[in-house]
Amino acid sequence: MNDTRSRQIVIAGAGVAGLTAALAFAERGYLVRVFEQAQRLEAAGAGIQLSPNATRILRQLGVLDRLLPAAVRPEAVVLKEAATLRELARVPLGQAAEARWQTPYLVAHRADLQSALTARVAEMPDIHLITGGRVSGVDTDSHGIAATVEIEGQTIKAEGSLLVGADGVWSSVRALVDSTRGTASPRSRFSGELAWRTTVAVESAAGQAFAAIGAADCVTTFLHPGFHMVAYPVSKGDAFNLVAFSRGERIAEGWSGHADPGILASAMRGTAPGVARLLEMAGPWLTWPLHTVEQKQSWTTPDGIALIGDAAHAMTPFAAQGAAMAIEDAAMLADVIADFPADQAQSLQIWENLRRPRVTRVARRGTINRLAWHAAGPVAIARNLFLKMRSSEKLAADLDWLYGWQQQKIIRR
Ligand SMILES: Cc1cc2nc3c(=O)[nH]c(=O)nc-3n(C[C@H](O)[C@H](O)[C@H](O)COP(=O)(O)OP(=O)(O)OC[C@H]3O[C@@H](n4cnc5c(N)ncnc54)[C@H](O)[C@@H]3O)c2cc1C
Repeated sequence: MNDTRSRQIVIAGAGVAGLTAALAFAERGYLVRVFEQAQRLEAAGAGIQLSPNATRILRQLGVLDRLLPAAVRPEAVVLKEAATLRELARVPLGQAAEARWQTPYLVAHRADLQSALTARVAEMPDIHLITGGRVSGVDTDSHGIAATVEIEGQTIKAEGSLLVGADGVWSSVRALVDSTRGTASPRSRFSGELAWRTTVAVESAAGQAFAAIGAADCVTTFLHPGFHMVAYPVSKGDAFNLVAFSRGERIAEGWSGHADPGILASAMRGTAPGVARLLEMAGPWLTWPLHTVEQKQSWTTPDGIALIGDAAHAMTPFAAQGAAMAIEDAAMLADVIADFPADQAQSLQIWENLRRPRVTRVARRGTINRLAWHAAGPVAIARNLFLKMRSSEKLAADLDWLYGWQQQKIIRR
């Protein structure tokens, strides 16, 4: 490979995955160009939970210190039955999480996470972030890749050794991977579920309504047959992020859609009056259709394309791990490529082989959570009994594999 190109990385998309990848590659001495199709970076959605497996990497990349002043360290994850408001389980976080996993569990507004990432990117002279640039194609040869970028009505070529597709669930780069590999383009698939989200000020009537039924300093999840709602503080604790999940018809793709509020009202029928009051006071609700990506397709090509984050494996958010997986993908990709530059094709394959079992296990955990949280009848009774018999310590220990994850050094023989 031509030597100048071998130290250059082209990234499509400046979401959590793309910005983390830019930082991780720049830390390893690469020149990075990030193309973002939007004219301005805007955080999509409202709140985000950042578990220790994610904050550990954000700390290593110099992002965590910038995020901490705006984020909140919740004291626990609390599961409540939405019909009775009875507490079913409590997983201690706060100090306990830091003692157990050596790095905090945080909840934050997405805009604060994006500000922390872009502030760190701005400090790195080897990262060039170009907005209004859409990656639409790629040529590959033995010298590396040349991505086609549509920018201000012109088409330019961006050369490098690797094109990282961090362009989200509706990725264009995914189609490029498939055409290179000669496989059919896997479309994202509508999961049949809608996410309803809103943010309310703590001082508002809706904020007070939540404080009356949830734990204001915790992540509270209300469980109900066919419905659940997650609520937690964001923005230094000045607001609560609320996100509810129900089944629903497919609606337009995007974070700020609208669906018939009657769907939400009907899904939460039978919940306690306090929950119903909160949902009524907290509106209007924006709606996001949950799409997932078929995970059997390849995430890499031998000639220098890698998909990370939602572009590779968008999953349902029931384990609150999509962004965390994107962060893990990005950090590990940069390490594997930098540690073994001589044979990039093999490095990409090793990276994919290492990431796939982990991502599959995490996605499966989300599926199990959804089944448990939406359970009805005898299954719900069995769930409640199981949770009652499990100590908080044991519930935390059950998460060690997920939150305690650390990147292993790979030794190639
Ligand atoms: C309701 C809900 C709640 C969630 N809660 C959590 C949570 O608590 N914790 C968690 O870890 N995860 C959570 N997730 C998942 C998380 O939001 C996603 O996994 C994460 O945002 C994916 O990041 P990404 O960078 O891969 O994609 P995106 O954030 O979608 O970024 C992709 C970027 O690429 C740009 N782009 C697209 N195409 C092109 C192109 N051709 N050229 C250039 N740029 C392009 C887009 O404009 C966008 O900026 C949640 C998801 C949902 C729906």
